[in-house]
Amino acid sequence: MERRGSNLPRVGDYNQLLVLDLVRRSSNISRVELSEHTGLSVQTVSNICRRLVSAGLIEAAGRVEADTGARRTMFRVVPQGQYSLGLHIDPARMTLVLLNLAGQVEDRASIVTPTTDGPEDVLKAIVDAVADLVGRRAIPPLRVSGLGVSAPGPIRAESGSLVGPPNLRGWGVVRLRDELESRVGLPVVLEKDTIAAATGELWAGGGTLSNFAFIYLGTGIGAGVVLDGEVMRGASDNLGEIGHLSGDPDGPRCSCGGRGCIAITSAPVHLVSAAAGAGTIPSVDLDDPLAVETALRHLCALADKGDESALAIVEKSARAIARVAGNLANVLDLDAVVLGGPSWSALSRIYLRVVPPITASLLTVSDVHTVEVRGTTLGEDGGAIGAASLVMSSMASARSDHLLVPH
Ligand SMILES: [Zn+2]
Repeated sequence: MERRGSNLPRVGDYNQLLVLDLVRRSSNISRVELSEHTGLSVQTVSNICRRLVSAGLIEAAGRVEADTGARRTMFRVVPQGQYSLGLHIDPARMTLVLLNLAGQVEDRASIVTPTTDGPEDVLKAIVDAVADLVGRRAIPPLRVSGLGVSAPGPIRAESGSLVGPPNLRGWGVVRLRDELESRVGLPVVLEKDTIAAATGELWAGGGTLSNFAFIYLGTGIGAGVVLDGEVMRGASDNLGEIGHLSGDPDGPRCSCGGRGCIAITSAPVHLVSAAAGAGTIPSVDLDDPLAVETALRHLCALADKGDESALAIVEKSARAIARVAGNLANVLDLDAVVLGGPSWSALSRIYLRVVPPITASLLTVSDVHTVEVRGTTLGEDGGAIGAASLVMSSMASARSDHLLVPH
């Protein structure tokens, strides 16, 4: 299914977003191609293009000769025509990016997440970081369309709240969207971190995948899912809680009653704890997410150098993730599993060696098609880029659901 437009005037804004989005995703595109992709008439597309050009969002990029011999004007986005901000909140570290209309990161900031009880210090740090970033780039406020926020769930979508995220101490229920809108003065879009990461991979990650799971490896472990080119959200926008899927049938007993759940076998705090217990790394304050993150990097660096004890711990976690990746690929009939998240750069070398063959061995559809297992193309900033992409793709909060027509 492809996003289709409607020629009715009342959905003009939606059509404009649709056309802008298509121009953004293709390096050069003509009115005729835009018409074919959206189902809008060429006349409607022409009107929209004129409006987008005069708003400084797209520009003509020369003319090419079509098969018919006619010359067609090609359009492309004006990268500096519009910006969005993306914030990723991880219990260890927050990342803020400034994304331009072409999907390029123009500036970024990394902020250590305050660990005081409750959200107040975190909110203040976010407001300061946004003011710094926008101030130093001297971008006119009207060119910034909003702030996308990617946060650990669970979230309550209608009120824009976080509901007692397990890895943020003392947060309870926090109306994050309204708090940030009033303090930052920009429209705010809130999304669960796993869903934001999948969105980033879909919109800014090269755009070649349409059926994939994004396995998010951070303080917690989750998955974002894209099917038929659409980001899945589920009944309450909280899709992706894969922590209690078992990656090791002989693993330790989990609080849920199962064995070897990846929430306990593969989360950084458990890897670090196991390594400290074995004397591989010095002991760590397991309640301090930043200390755990630093210790995980140390552990993975040891493993990369061939330290046997470190290698055994990291490889075991990789095998567990590989089993879950294989099961996800089977359940959802995926083309690809993308691995990423805040822990990814530390884990990637070992995971890219261990995960693909195990996942491939579990596939029930291997006679029909292969499933690619790879790392994210967006690097450390994936969550923040995803959050910024959410703003770009929902600038007028146009949820496409009711405007989709099968074809
Ligand atoms: Zn469990």
